[in-house]
Amino acid sequence: MAVSHLSEDEQALIEAIREIALERVAPRAAEIDHTGEFPWDMKELLAQQDILAMPFPSEYGGIGASELAIVMAIEELSRHCATTGLLLAVQQLGSTPILLAGNEKQKRKYLPPLASGEWMAAYGLTEAGSGSDAAAMRTVAVREGDRYILNGSKRFITNGGLAQVNSIFALTDPKIGTRGISAFIVEKDFPGFSVGRIEDKMGIKGSQTAELIFTDCEVPAENLLGREGDGFKIAMMTLDRTRPGIGAQALGIAQGALDLAVSYSKQRVQFGRPIADNQGIQFMLADMATKIEASRLLVYNVAEMIDRGERDFSKYSAMAKMFASDAAMEVTNDAIQILGGYGYMKEYPAERMMRDAKITQIYEGTNQIQRLVIARDLLE
Ligand SMILES: Cc1cc2nc3c(=O)[nH]c(=O)nc-3n(C[C@H](O)[C@H](O)[C@H](O)COP(=O)(O)OP(=O)(O)OC[C@H]3O[C@@H](n4cnc5c(N)ncnc54)[C@H](O)[C@@H]3O)c2cc1C
Repeated sequence: MAVSHLSEDEQALIEAIREIALERVAPRAAEIDHTGEFPWDMKELLAQQDILAMPFPSEYGGIGASELAIVMAIEELSRHCATTGLLLAVQQLGSTPILLAGNEKQKRKYLPPLASGEWMAAYGLTEAGSGSDAAAMRTVAVREGDRYILNGSKRFITNGGLAQVNSIFALTDPKIGTRGISAFIVEKDFPGFSVGRIEDKMGIKGSQTAELIFTDCEVPAENLLGREGDGFKIAMMTLDRTRPGIGAQALGIAQGALDLAVSYSKQRVQFGRPIADNQGIQFMLADMATKIEASRLLVYNVAEMIDRGERDFSKYSAMAKMFASDAAMEVTNDAIQILGGYGYMKEYPAERMMRDAKITQIYEGTNQIQRLVIARDLLE
């Protein structure tokens, strides 16, 4: 286990989450994957246990957990069920624009119900024609008196249609590129907000991924986050802070796959002895464990940079997300190999873990985009 600097209270909290994950989350994971239904019971569990309150300061009803504790919580949940780990990661993703750029009135209104878990949050940046190139968005917001009128749509939005609070990015001035993007808090009950297609996915099956459609959607002007033109900066600053959470999700998935591979290899007998007695299997296990430990160090390190208030952590955040997600893909693939034919069957969780791991290389910026972030920092 990598070195960590949690307070005693937070150590106890992570210990409690580890137990909850084992006793309450693990038994639900296969069913959530099989039915593809949003796990309301897991959302309630995380709300009741104050796990969804972790990213929020105490003055807004949260428990003001450190970033390190948040990534460790996502890791522990994802070790058994990546969809459940994502509930915490996305609560943070959708709320971070408000935490970073919200004024006091906005924070007082929106953060307490998010901290209690009564409301869920979503983050709407991606569109059909703008994924990696987020600045190519087409959704527009036109000011009319005391409100903005939004037109356009967002694609692949996690918690889309379930989240009461949506941090939405739209063009207030299409002529000036990224400086013309603004951020808004959009409630799902605002007139003109609707939900389009709900995606059928390869993994994280219980997580709802939806299209959000804005048709003359009326957003009060007071729901603008920061000033007009601040949106792109808010979007990027948010991702810098939340990518470690995706690294942690990947880390948890990989740890779960290693746990499975170790126990299976000790039990499965071929040629008269456990397969774990073969050096070929031992070398695979050793490589898997080393990749996981390296991922853990990167994820915990950047979380602690954030906790220390360091400003220049974007590169480290990208490294943590990229390395941990690539490692998770390799480790889950190896876990299937170690389980042989059984690894390919739905009877064992290895194949689910591989399907779940794949998304961590794609969302919150693909790993090609993480490499661009890292290289840009090196070359500037
Ligand atoms: C399940 C799921 C949940 C998601 N949740 C959210 C969410 O909550 N909110 C949200 O806003 N978005 C969300 N997304 C969107 C996600 O962030 C995007 O899918 C991702 O950023 C990639 O965009 P794209 O799919 O349009 O791929 P594209 O940008 O079209 O990329 C296609 C391929 O080209 C590569 N590529 C693109 N540009 C470059 C380049 N300059 N150099 C090298 N390679 C490049 C990419 O790495 C990728 O391999 C989600 C996506 C999924 C699948």
